[in-house]
Amino acid sequence: MTLRTITRNNSASRRAPKGTSLRKTDIERFRQLLQVQRDDITEDLRILKESLRSLQDHQQGIGAWNLDFARDSADTESAENIAVQIRRLSDTLNQIAGALRRIENGTFGICVRCGKIIDIERLEAVPFTRRCIACKSNIRAGEDQGG
Ligand SMILES: [Zn+2]
Repeated sequence: MTLRTITRNNSASRRAPKGTSLRKTDIERFRQLLQVQRDDITEDLRILKESLRSLQDHQQGIGAWNLDFARDSADTESAENIAVQIRRLSDTLNQIAGALRRIENGTFGICVRCGKIIDIERLEAVPFTRRCIACKSNIRAGEDQGG
């Protein structure tokens, strides 16, 4: 047997050529994963928003006479941290909602930029990603970080 035959046999036996769409079972698995993530994040957001509200109430309670102190206090800092987390989680939640919509309309796992199939390994890592790894790495900081 020549080397050439071996190579050809190997590639012929590999049954998932690039460019095929995801199997139904994979998509179903991602759908469940995304739904769990969505529920987790929704709950996290609820808790964060409550914390933020109670921090803000507390700051109002301090009163105007102490406003400068309040501005420098740890409360102000953690309120800002919480606001940042809320923004980030809301963003992720939007992306998850988008991924679930793409599952419904059959475009899940397809790169929005080049139209190629996104590697399943990448989807395993970030199920709500919209771009393949090549397009993702072509994007510079400052542009949409949405995966
Ligand atoms: Zn791409």
